[in-house]
Order: sequence, then structure tokens, then C-alpha cells
Amino acid sequence: MGPQSLQVLLVDDNPIQLSLLRHLFHRHGHMTIEARNGAEALIVLATEFPDVVVCDCVMPLLDGYQFCRLVKDDRATRHLPVLLLTAQGTGLARFWAKTCGADRFLVKGRDLDHVVEAATALAKQSPRPHITHAVSKLAQENFGVDAIQRRLAQALEQRLVETALRDSVARLYTADHDTPRLIEGFIEIIQELVLPGALLVAYQGEEGFLCHGVHGSSTSAEDRLTLEQAAAQQGLFKAMPGCHWHPAADNDERRLNLRDPVSRVFPATTPGYPVVGTLAFITERRAAEDFERLFEIAAEELGRLLSLEDSRLRLYHQAIRDPLTGLYNRKHILDMLGMELDQCGRFGHGLSIMLVDLDYFKAVNDRFGHAVGDQVLSVIAQRMLFGLRKVDQLGRIGGEEFLVYSPQTDLDGTRALAERLRKHVAMDAVSGLPVNDRVTISIGLATWEGPEDSTENLIARADQALYRAKAEGRDRVVG
Ligand code: GH3
Ligand code: MG
Ligand code: MG
Repeated sequence: MGPQSLQVLLVDDNPIQLSLLRHLFHRHGHMTIEARNGAEALIVLATEFPDVVVCDCVMPLLDGYQFCRLVKDDRATRHLPVLLLTAQGTGLARFWAKTCGADRFLVKGRDLDHVVEAATALAKQSPRPHITHAVSKLAQENFGVDAIQRRLAQALEQRLVETALRDSVARLYTADHDTPRLIEGFIEIIQELVLPGALLVAYQGEEGFLCHGVHGSSTSAEDRLTLEQAAAQQGLFKAMPGCHWHPAADNDERRLNLRDPVSRVFPATTPGYPVVGTLAFITERRAAEDFERLFEIAAEELGRLLSLEDSRLRLYHQAIRDPLTGLYNRKHILDMLGMELDQCGRFGHGLSIMLVDLDYFKAVNDRFGHAVGDQVLSVIAQRMLFGLRKVDQLGRIGGEEFLVYSPQTDLDGTRALAERLRKHVAMDAVSGLPVNDRVTISIGLATWEGPEDSTENLIARADQALYRAKAEGRDRVVG
């Protein structure tokens, strides 16, 4: 027995196949243990600790897929690599091999030459210590067929529940695209596992950290605060966000008292993303243990959901905003104006617009360079944003041209607003420019004249007014 020698568990109901495999492994200096089906193999694993399993798929009593599922389901044997051998190389066989957790899948006729090589590679990769102290579930029970079938049924049911949980969360995402509502839906699904305890989800929303939770009536305000603190300690939050708590619907079960509460905190992550949220709960110790795997899955799904939301919002933000100023881009402000005009037509409201153009802006570029020009554009854009009301919408429609629309505002109202804007922009110096220089704007106004009017005509009229403002000396409002 060389230093590379492995102990290999061979599982096959066909004696000829079994002896073929035995010879192959022996020829390479490995030792073998044998079993004639999955059930026998499980019994072997109750007392032996092989380095790798090479297992047939179709066998009586307990087939290779079922065997593999049970091996991967048990903490004591999870890390044992399983190589499945099958007669067919396609279709369902391959699908089942993947979903049952097999580490490798080989076709008997075609790949048998590689079986020793593949098994050796698997055993080498396996992080499992040679001697394990965990005792397999089967070793704690009797080794009968009943015990094996009970375990198989449990493992399948567990898998079904896990799949249902993933599916419910994934469905949420196809139904809604509003982060707080998604979180609400997520909490509604998961709360059943923790009540009468409490559950919270904290995450980075569009405007900072948010935290939402649901609790049974028996949890105290102190319990909930402790949970918030535990979630905050996870490091996702610089400042602890106040949690918005909602009592769970008040039916009998939820009114039960918590007898032996424990709390747990899970980071919500998805591969390739930083931590995007936190899932924390208080529940009965028993539930925390029974549902451990489900909570892990819930945190995983929460991570996926939040990361998808994050990507979606980023993409949306990129699609509608101008990267230099952060204002709406030309397409979006014009789309919004079009929709607003539809509303005006329907409800008989008025609307006015301003076209804004920076005065002598080419000179800023010429004197101070394009980079300073960019900086000035961005500062002036922010000033305009602050100079407007919440109902007014502002977008950048060209290099140094902007469009503002004001719903339910007539020409006089808009003129007053435009004057205010003009003064506000020119009031202060702009960093990067000489302190006595002021950036000024010219503004052309137009008001919507009813359903006969079009967006194009409205903008053309404002453009004419802007042209006059320039011609009359700039730094003024016309219209
Ligand atoms: P007027 O008062 O008649 O509007 O004069 P103006 O110089 O502002 O107008 P003109 O249309 O002749 O020039 C606009 C300048 O704006 C030309 C261009 O270099 C500059 N510009 C357009 N977009 C950007 C940009 O994104 N960054 C910078 N730095 N400059 C820009
Ligand atoms: Mg200009
Ligand atoms: Mg211009």
C-alpha cells in the first residue's frame, strides 16, 4: 500500500461489473470495499470511512441517485466524493446525476478507462479529514430497510420544501419591481417559520439603509431592539437603521408565547456581490434547529433578490439619467413631458415649459478647458435643481441646454419661477472660475395651449422665446 493508496467503496448490483472495477482499482494499488446496492452501501458507511465512492445508477432497493442524495444530505458523509457510473450518457440520467449532488458522472462503456483517474482526482480535491468524528445518521439508527426508506422520504421532502421556498421567493421577483414591496412579500413567506418570534430584513435601499420586521405579540420591544443590534453588528450598517416593525396577523398560533427563544443573524449575499442585506430572527430553539437549512436558503434567496434589484435599479438609473449632471437625459425628460401632456389632455390641466441655455458657455471651455466646463455644467445643474419646486421636472436636453416643465402652472407662474431660477443660478461664484465671474442663463417660456397643441410645437415656441432672450442680451427670461 503506497502513500497514494485510497480506500474506494464500489457499489454495483452486477457482479461482473463489480469485479471489473475491483481489478481496475487494485491494479493501481488501491483498496476496495464492496456493496451490491445503495442500501448496502449506506450500511457500510455507518462504520467505514472510504475516500471515494464509485457507484452504479440503476440498482435494486436503493438506486445510485437516491444513495447519493442521502450521502449528501448527511453531515457526516456530505464531503465524501461520489462518482456515478451509468450505462446511458444523456438525458434524464445526466440531469438526475447533477441534481442528486454527485461529484462526477461517467458513462460505463465509454469512460471506464478514466474511472480510476477520476476517482483519485475527486479524493484528492475532497477537503474531508481522513478520520471523521461525526457519526452518520444511519449509524445512530438500526440498519434496516425501514430506516433507510424513512431517511430517503425525509431527504426528498426536505428537498421539496427547499425548492418550494426558492420558488416562492423567485415568483415574488417576477410579480413586483418595488423593493419595499418585494421585502414585504419575502417577510410574509419566511415569517411562518419563525412566529411567534420575530423576523427582520435590513438592506441598502435607494435612499440609505432600511429595516423592516414582523413580530408575534409575545416578543417584547427589548427583544426586538436586541435583534436590531445583532443585525447591525453584522457590519453592513454604519449607523443602525431604526426598524419598522409590524405585528403579525393576530391568530391563535401567533399569540403563543416563546418558551426557549434563540436569535440568529444571516448575511444576505450572492456570489460576486458584497453583502447586500441581513436576515435576522428570534424563534424557538427547536425551529431554529429544524429549519436551519431553510434559513440558509432564505438568506441566499434574499441575497439574490436584493442583488437583482440593485442591478435593475442601476441599469434603470443609467438609462434615464445623464452621467455628467445626474439629471434626466433628453429621452427621459421628453418621455415624461409626453406622458404629462396626456394627463393634461385628460384632466384639463395646464402646463408650461422653460428652455434654459447657458450664456457664452463656449468661452468657459475656451478659457479654462473642457474639464472645468464639465464641472461648471454639473454645478449649475445642481443649482437649478435646488431652485425649482418638487413638482417641476428638469432634464438636460443638449450640451448646455436644459428643459423644465411645470404642471398646472400658467405663463405668469412660470415666468416668476424662471426669474427666481435665473437669479439663483447667477447669485454665487462657481468654483474653478474667477471669483468675480458669474455663469448666467437665458430662458425661453411657452405654455401648453390645449389638446390641439403638440409637444413639438410647444418646444418650438419656447425655443423661439429663448432665441429672443439671447438676441436681447442674454441673462433674461422671455415668453
Ligand atoms: P450662447 O450664449 O449663445 O448660448 O453662447 P454659447 O457659447 O453658450 O453657445 P454655443 O452653442 O456657441 O456653444 C455651446 C458650447 O457648449 C459649445 C460646447 O463646447 C459646449 N458644450 C456642450 N456640451 C458640453 C459638455 O458636455 N461639456 C463641456 N465642457 N462643454 C460643452
Ligand atoms: Mg449657450
Ligand atoms: Mg446652446
